[in-house]
Order: sequence, then structure tokens, then C-alpha cells
Amino acid sequence: MINRNKKVALHNLGCKVNAYETEVMEQKLKNAGYEIVPFEPGADIYIINTCTVTNIADRKSRQMLHKAKRMNPDSIVVAAGCYTETDKEKVIADENIDIVVGNNKKRDIIEILNDYFKKCEKIDASIDINHTSEYEEMTLEQLSEHTRAYIKVQDGCNQFCTYCIIPYARGRVRSRKISDIEKEAEILAGKGFKEIVITGIHIGSYGIDFDDKETGLIDVVEAICKIPGIERVRLGSVEPRTITEDFMQRISKQKEICPHFHLSLQSGCDTVLKRMNRKYNTKEFIKSCELIRSYYKNAAITTDVIVGFPGETEEEHNITKKFISEVGFSDMHIFKYSVRHGTMAAGMPNQVPESIKTLRSAELIELCKKMQKEYRKRYIDSTTYVLFEEKEIINEKEYYTGHTKEYVKIMVESDDDITNEIKRVNVTDYYNDEILLAEIVNLY
Ligand code: SF4
Repeated sequence: MINRNKKVALHNLGCKVNAYETEVMEQKLKNAGYEIVPFEPGADIYIINTCTVTNIADRKSRQMLHKAKRMNPDSIVVAAGCYTETDKEKVIADENIDIVVGNNKKRDIIEILNDYFKKCEKIDASIDINHTSEYEEMTLEQLSEHTRAYIKVQDGCNQFCTYCIIPYARGRVRSRKISDIEKEAEILAGKGFKEIVITGIHIGSYGIDFDDKETGLIDVVEAICKIPGIERVRLGSVEPRTITEDFMQRISKQKEICPHFHLSLQSGCDTVLKRMNRKYNTKEFIKSCELIRSYYKNAAITTDVIVGFPGETEEEHNITKKFISEVGFSDMHIFKYSVRHGTMAAGMPNQVPESIKTLRSAELIELCKKMQKEYRKRYIDSTTYVLFEEKEIINEKEYYTGHTKEYVKIMVESDDDITNEIKRVNVTDYYNDEILLAEIVNLY
């Protein structure tokens, strides 16, 4: 056997979709007889699943590839994923890299390595990602997390936001067949996973590439919710246009659904949204939030915001701040705009100085903390259900921690191991800015 005794170290950079694909590669390598080792000196093969979302991500990807070769100059270094798609010439020319695995080729990792062993020469295993319509089917059967499993349901994006390189790295929307999604969810449920997170590059576009034009994200949700053993289904990031009356009506009938909606806002100012080429305005955004709350009074609505987008004036920033307060998010991720070469926004005039981005980011972080506290306050002195994920040592004491359906983190003391169990708890207090303290309600 070609691979006998070969030690492989994998390193993932970037988003949940990349992490999912790294796990799939790891699983395939294990099944083929490779030994998986930590990303340290001593491996025979290093696989880096790269990211290209910002210039910094590109740099980190390059650094990890070079670090791998330094750790073992005789090793085989594999560059996989997004960075290889956007900077292909550089990657091919890089002497530290032996194999290039583009997006849509990761599932073939074993065959690609076998090919390399036969030929012993540099391999470029990539396709023209911008002209493929095939979803790269891969199934994950085991995960490093033990309670929550991510299922990838689509790849690619057709939105072309002006700051984003992803459509060039991941290609156009390709949706996974529902029957394949169901199969994977069944396997994961059989392994004891209770919560499924529906993930992808732009899950709101699920199904737009199908001929029938009728299958959408809601059908994926309903299919997963039906699977015995799955007790929670959480949606990844969506946009206002996904939240229609029909979508909410159907989703609210699924008792497994987590009333946690991550709606990407990016800016709360219409002129900035237009420059970003986002496909909604603030009016539509707020309408979606109202619709969600008309079905789930206590829904957690979380979001992402970019501060310091090119040309963002003080006035536009203040409009965003006001809009965010009006919506009242339960959590936000704030990003300082970061130039990504190859995008429209990189060439836009009036780039915002770093010092101003830092100030604006600090203001929104402050606002986020206030809203988080406000949202979590409503849990105190009430009962809720928590899926416990792990045992943590906090201030030298042992606690079990987990999340409610709305993704509020809760900790309890317990003599029994309650990992991967859903328990009813009584929330007693804030523990700190991130965690609420609770007691298990014993049902005798
Ligand atoms: S929706 Fe916009 S930000 Fe998201 S992946 Fe597509 S282009 Fe990038």
C-alpha cells in the first residue's frame, strides 16, 4: 500500500464550510489508513485548507504553507481550498507547495495523493471553479465536536457583494441534493448528534440552481427536522429575502427549529448597503425582524456588521448605530472593513483610516454588550432548556456548559455527566458578560 505508515497533519483556516471540508478530508485519510497527527514537526504530509476572505487570510495561508515545509523539508505540502483559487499562479509557482487541491476537488484527496506518489511531481488538482455547476458531494460521518454537527447544504455564491472575493473562490451556487443531506443527517443522528446546524456559503440561495425552481431552504429544514434523534435544527446565516411569510409559517411548525436567526446586516445605512451591493435595504431588514418576532416573541436575532466600508461618513456610521439600536440584536459580530485585492471595494475612493475604523468598531462593541445584556436579562428567573456540550473549569470550579435554542450560553453545577443531554434549567443570575448561571430542574 502506497500510504502505509504515512503521517498526515491537517490545518484549517477560515469559515465553518472550510472546517467541514477539512473534517471530510481527515475522515477519508483515516479510512484509507493514514495516521492523523498534530500540525507539528514530524508529519510526512501537511494539508492546509486555506482561506482568502481578506488580504490577511491570504497571508496567513501562505505562512502556514511555508511553516509546514520548514517543519519537515522532506514532507509533501498540500495547499487546498480558497486561496489556491484566487492566487493560482503564485501557488503553482511556490516551491514549498507540492500539491494544489482546488475547491470541488477536496473529496478526491486520496486519489490525488496516490497520483502524486506514482508521478512524484507537482500536481495541480483544480478545476475552473467559476464554470462548474456540480455540487461536490461529500459526506461527514464523524466530527470533532460531540453535540452539534454542521451539515453543508450548498456551495458558492451569486451575490457579488463589492467587498467579497468568495464568489471567485467558491464559484456559483451549487445546491446539494436533499436525499444526500438526509442521508448525512441520519448518519449523524445515529452517532448521537442532537443538534444540526445548516451551513453553506450562502444558504439563502439553496435550490436556485435546481431545474424545478420550487425546492428551497425550507425544504431542507423540514427534511432534517423529520429525522428521528435530531432534536434541534439551527440555521446558518440568512438574509432578509429568505424570511417570507411562507418561510416563517412553515418553519414555525417544526418544533426542532431553534428560534435563532442570524441575519447579515453589514450596514444599517441604505447608501452604504448600496455601495456594498447588498440586495436589501434597511426597511426590508426591519420587516424581516418583525416577521420573525411575530412568530417567535423571544427570537434571538444576531448579525454581522462591517465598520469603515470605503466612503463611510460619520453620518452614515451614526445612521447604522441608530438602526442597530432600533432592531435590538441579541449578539453582533463587528468587523473592521479590510481591503481585499481583486474586489470592487478595494478600488473605491475615500478609504476610511484605520484609526476611525477602530473608534467606530469600539462604539458598536459597546452597543453590542448593552444589547446582549438586555436580551439575556429576560432569561433570569425563568426556566428554559439547554443542550449541554462540555465540562469546563471556570474559576477553579467545574461546571457543565451548553446553549439554549436561542444560543444563550448557560452553566450549571452537576455531579452527573450531562454532556450531550438536554436539561430543563432555572436561570438564576448572570455569571459574567457571556454566561448565565442556572440550576437543573429535577423532574421527579
Ligand atoms: S453574500 Fe456577499 S458577502 Fe456573502 S459570500 Fe456572497 S458575495 Fe460574499
